[in-house]
Amino acid sequence: MYHSLIQKIQSRISHWASKNLSYAGRVQLLNSAIFGLESFWCSCLFLPATVIGHIERLCRQFIWGYSQGTRKLIFFSWEKVCRSSRAGGFDIREILSWNKTLMMKQFWKLFCSSRTVWTNWMHAYIIKDADLWTIQPLVSSSFLWKRFLQLRDHLIHKTGMHQAQLLRATGPPRLRLRLTYQALRGAMPNLFWTKALMDPVIMPRYKVIVLLAFQNSLSTTDNLCKRGFHMVSRCILCLKAEETTSHLFFDCEYSSGVLQALFTWQGITRRPLSLKHEIRRQAQITGKNIRKKWAKCTLSAAVYNLWAERNARIFQDTCRSSSQLICVIKNVIRIRVLACMNGLTNEAVSISLAS
Ligand SMILES: [Zn+2]
Repeated sequence: MYHSLIQKIQSRISHWASKNLSYAGRVQLLNSAIFGLESFWCSCLFLPATVIGHIERLCRQFIWGYSQGTRKLIFFSWEKVCRSSRAGGFDIREILSWNKTLMMKQFWKLFCSSRTVWTNWMHAYIIKDADLWTIQPLVSSSFLWKRFLQLRDHLIHKTGMHQAQLLRATGPPRLRLRLTYQALRGAMPNLFWTKALMDPVIMPRYKVIVLLAFQNSLSTTDNLCKRGFHMVSRCILCLKAEETTSHLFFDCEYSSGVLQALFTWQGITRRPLSLKHEIRRQAQITGKNIRKKWAKCTLSAAVYNLWAERNARIFQDTCRSSSQLICVIKNVIRIRVLACMNGLTNEAVSISLAS
C-alpha cells in the first residue's frame, strides 16, 4: 500500500535536477510538492516507522544532492534540517510529528457538530455516551482506535498541553495544527542570531549558507579531515592557512579584504571581527529603510559569494580577484535592495547605495 507513496515521491524527486538547484530551491520544492503529497497520506493513516524512514532518506538525498554511486559527508543532522528557521533549521516538516498532528485532526473531528458518516458511526457504536477526553480503549477495540487514544493521552499528558489550548477559541471546535505540531515536536531553541536572517531582503539561498556556516556545518576541508578524509587542509583563497569556517570567512586575507571593502562602502570604519560577532550585531538592526536593508543583506551576500568563490576555485578551476568579487557582491546587494524597496527607482537606490 505504501509502495505507491514512496514511488510517487521517488519519481517526483528524480524529475528534478537537484544539482542545478540551490539548497534553498530544494527546500522550497520539498515543502511545496513532496509534503503536499505526503500530507494527504499523513491525514489518512498512521505511517509505519519504516515508511517514514524511507521517505526521510529520499528527502535527505534530494536536499544534499546525492547522486548514485557517490558518497557525501553531511555535517548537518536531519533533526536540525527539520527545525524551524528561528531554531537554526530549514523549516522542513518532521514527518512523524506531522503525521501525528494530522491524525489528531481526524480525532478532533469527533467533536464537530457537522457529522460525517464516520463520526456518526463512531458515536453510535464506539463512543456512545462516553467523554472523548477520558474514554479508554477496550481489549477488543481496533488497533486504529487504540492509536488515536494513545495519541490523545500523549498530547494531553506528555506535552502538558491543555485541551482548551489546542482548540480554536471561536467558531466550531477546530484543532490548532501549528500549536499541536509544535507540542509534538517538543521545545526548540529560539536562537537570537537567527533574527538576523529573517528579513525578506536576505535571499533564501544566502540564508541557508549562513545557517550552515554559523553552525560550522559546511564541508570545509578541516571538517572533512575530522571525519577521516585524508587531504591537505589548505585555504584555496589565500593558500596560506588551514581552511576552517572562521578562517574562510573572516581571518583569510582575501575574505577580510572583501568584507572590509563592503564595510567601507557602508560607511563602517571598524574592521570585521567574526561571523558570530557580526551576525549578532546584524540581529540587533531594526527598521525598514534603505540603509537598514542594505546593512542587513551585506553579511549574508558576502558569506554566500565567498563560499561560491571557494567552490568555483576547487571544482571549476576559475578564479576572481577580490575587486571582481566585491563588484559582484555590490551589484547583487543593489538589485536585492531595489527588489525589496517597493516604489523606489533604480536610480534612487543607486544614489543611496553609492559606491
Ligand atoms: Zn585563506
